[in-house]
Amino acid sequence: MSGPDISVVIPAYNEEDSIEECLRQTSSVLDSIGLSYEICVVDDASSDRTFARLKGIRKNLPQLRALRLRTNRGQSAALDAGFRHAAGNVVVTMDADLQNDPADIPKLLAATEEYDVVCGVRKNRRDNLVRRGSSRIANCVRNRLTNENIQDVGCSLRAMKREFLVRLKLYDGMHRFLPTLLKMEGAKVTEIPVNHRPRRRGKTKYNIRNRLFRGVRDLIAVRWMRRRWIRYEVEEEI
Ligand code: UDP
Ligand code: MG
Repeated sequence: MSGPDISVVIPAYNEEDSIEECLRQTSSVLDSIGLSYEICVVDDASSDRTFARLKGIRKNLPQLRALRLRTNRGQSAALDAGFRHAAGNVVVTMDADLQNDPADIPKLLAATEEYDVVCGVRKNRRDNLVRRGSSRIANCVRNRLTNENIQDVGCSLRAMKREFLVRLKLYDGMHRFLPTLLKMEGAKVTEIPVNHRPRRRGKTKYNIRNRLFRGVRDLIAVRWMRRRWIRYEVEEEI
């Protein structure tokens, strides 16, 4: 049996107040495109009623698939679980908190005609000054040290061909390096501007400590991976 055209993967950790509206907006955009789809929400062991909400929503949204992880393992783990369950040819990722705008999905999908991976760039970023400032520095350092030119690795809204995603072995924190890892797998990557909205409900799961310091260690790891990546072509075979 072949999968749907599109799988939307949404990691959610304590997003009981956003998830319903997030799924309503997402399914209404996807219904308007006319392609087959599934929405796979990965509940990263929320301690609130996120999963109970998902069970309720599923009654009216058969395209919804929901997984619940046993313990909270972080955004990369939740994405990985989603990628393994996703059956669509193109996988779209976004956050559960409505900061990404599902209205951008058709634009991302259109760009997958030409590219394997399409990453959103948050144009009018609606986070506080400290977050915006630290992201700017982090993007700059990350690009320098990994010899990259990705403008906004923190934007979760992306569309990626599944054939490239299934090749990845993710580690904790690696969601910030997905474009780089996918390029290493040979994907043709582009970036397009997307909308960004303030978080109105629930709380951010990140702060300077768990973003900056961990990010630096992850950066060193990815730099090493890039340098030691094995590239070769078989020239002849008899
Ligand atoms: N998230 C998750 N597990 C975690 C932390 C975050 O699944 O341990 C999800 C979270 O629910 C949200 C997305 O990852 O859907 C991004 O998190 P958040 O909005 O807190 O990040 P920010 O937008 O503040 O960078
Ligand atoms: Mg957010």
